Amino acid sequence: MQLTDSSERTWYEATASRGPPRPKLEGRQEADVCVIGGGLAGLTTALELARRGVAVVLLEARRIAWGASGRNGGFVSNGFAEGMDNVAARVGLPAAQALYQLSCHGTEFIRREIAEGDPSIRMGEGWLGCLRYSGAVKKRAAAAEMNRLYGGDVQFLDVAETRARAGSRRYFQSTYDPSAFHMHPLRYALMIAGKAEAHGVRLFENSAVRSTEGQGPAHVVRTDEGEVRARELVFCVSSLDRRIHPMTGRAVLPVATYIAVTEPLRQDVIRTRSAISDSRRAGNYFRLIDEGRLLWGGAITTRLSEPRRLAERMKRDMVSVFPELGNPRIDHAWAGLMGYARHFMPVIGSDGQGRWWATAFGGHGMNTTAMGGMLLARAIAAKDDEYRRFAPFGPQWAGGPFGRMGVQAGYWYMQAKDALDERRYGRAG
Ligand SMILES: Cc1cc2nc3c(=O)[nH]c(=O)nc-3n(C[C@H](O)[C@H](O)[C@H](O)COP(=O)(O)OP(=O)(O)OC[C@H]3O[C@@H](n4cnc5c(N)ncnc54)[C@H](O)[C@@H]3O)c2cc1C
Repeated sequence: MQLTDSSERTWYEATASRGPPRPKLEGRQEADVCVIGGGLAGLTTALELARRGVAVVLLEARRIAWGASGRNGGFVSNGFAEGMDNVAARVGLPAAQALYQLSCHGTEFIRREIAEGDPSIRMGEGWLGCLRYSGAVKKRAAAAEMNRLYGGDVQFLDVAETRARAGSRRYFQSTYDPSAFHMHPLRYALMIAGKAEAHGVRLFENSAVRSTEGQGPAHVVRTDEGEVRARELVFCVSSLDRRIHPMTGRAVLPVATYIAVTEPLRQDVIRTRSAISDSRRAGNYFRLIDEGRLLWGGAITTRLSEPRRLAERMKRDMVSVFPELGNPRIDHAWAGLMGYARHFMPVIGSDGQGRWWATAFGGHGMNTTAMGGMLLARAIAAKDDEYRRFAPFGPQWAGGPFGRMGVQAGYWYMQAKDALDERRYGRAG
């Protein structure tokens, strides 16, 4: 699946400083590990390996964080794209609790790297998850259960408190997660790349990997103009290349999603600087960013190109939640591709032949790519086997074109259910 390149239209590109491109791979390089893909999964793996004294070459097809990592919503929170009740149903509660703790380590990693590297990357605290229909009993119980089983501090907010913070009469009750925060994802990824280089990682841009061959400890990775010889390989290409490592390529479905950023707004409707999302299943998520702009994300599709009139569509959603905003100008609008496995969990593993992978982070990839990078670095450098906790979520075939149709049909089904819930319960508030 190939999206037309909208990266230059992102607000993040307009407000980050990339500097000149890094070199393209030419000729031959030797390394202990060659990481393929310069998103946050690849970058974190490379940084953590280098911190353990491993010699790393990282090859990125375009620019660092060109994919989802440099154009996402910037929400950082614990957990996974899959809900913990489903994870526990599959692997049992103790294993689910251990996985959840790993996801928390990912959040902590980002918090620490930002604090030590550049605190201005952090843009706001906490996450408000709002219901679009009245459901106090269920919402309160879900928060209490999450806290009891997974040790969180998620707070329940009633309708008045929710509306005081979020500012929309569309919303009813909410939960507030103080452990979450939001940030500038491109500046964060560039900072991680800079730290990796400072630890000796050789980063190459515009160096798409065309093939890999050989077995450990003698892998050869080829680009158009060069090659890397390495003892081990790490594949971190998400859904952006499904051929380079066929086993995980077949297991990852590309799913597109969208973000728009308004002009600076003079408004006093949204009163919180926290991240906000709503209960629509493929729902809206938004946050106030610099200069009082509103960053708005939502919608998923499996189409092969960006929908026309994307900005208009996002504005319609925005104004349906906040009619007070009138007719804000949209200054930036873009699409991004996520990678999803059928089980909605990250796919992290190895074939025992020196090939490793960390992919399928879905729409919950900030903390989980950090977690995946740490797990793989510990596995490769120190033979730690905690990554095996993800073994129950292996690279199953995602269904090819049928899988894609399934995602689209699933999205339409979710939209219909959302509409039904809102009609059925919405008037109660
Ligand atoms: C619009 C949007 C909003 C999102 N919002 C959030 C959010 O708020 N919070 C959250 O937690 N998650 C969010 N996500 C999900 C999150 O961004 C991703 O899960 C995460 O960034 C995936 O990281 P990655 O490194 O696996 O993949 P990517 O960031 O996609 O990186 C893969 C890289 O591999 C490179 N590549 C591909 N093929 C090759 C090759 N052959 N050779 C060399 N390099 C190659 C690509 O160019 C790319 O740079 C969002 C995603 C999108 C698209």
